[in-house]
Amino acid sequence: RLPSDCPPDVERLGRHTWTFLHTTASYFPPSPSPHQKQSMLGLLRALPTLYPCGVCATHLGGYMQANPPERAVDQGREALEKWLCGVHNEVNERLGKDRFDCDNVPQRWRDGWKDGHCEP
Ligand code: FAD
Repeated sequence: RLPSDCPPDVERLGRHTWTFLHTTASYFPPSPSPHQKQSMLGLLRALPTLYPCGVCATHLGGYMQANPPERAVDQGREALEKWLCGVHNEVNERLGKDRFDCDNVPQRWRDGWKDGHCEP
């Protein structure tokens, strides 16, 4: 069996969840429809209730109360990418990790790095 067959710990769950969330934000339409906005808000608002790491969920809920996602979702892809980058950077700082440069989100999560090192 591979380690990836085992239940995820907080770190692996986190890495995979960030992959899903950042990638989803990077493919969110620049001009979302009302239905797409509502769906994205539903996804984000569910996380503090459902995310299966209690400490993480509690911190996230506090962050989202202070920094609600509504305006970013309303403005579309770029604003949502930035908002989510801010969420992740708050966690990075709390865990003693480097902040990520939010200008690099599209290269990291959708377009690939400009130096081409993500090319197959
Ligand atoms: P990760 O932090 O998982 O990052 C993965 C990749 O994302 C990085 O390699 C980098 O390329 C990119 N990245 C990094 N920062 C950003 C950014 N700001 N914007 C865009 N891309 C970025 N763990 C805890 O111990 N305590 C917590 O309270 C906690 N809360 C969490 C809350 C949420 C909502 C999530 C999804 C995860 C949480 N985690 C928490 C897990 C933690 O954030 C990491 O996922 C985990 O520690 C593994 O870290 P990592 O160094 O492998 O990279």
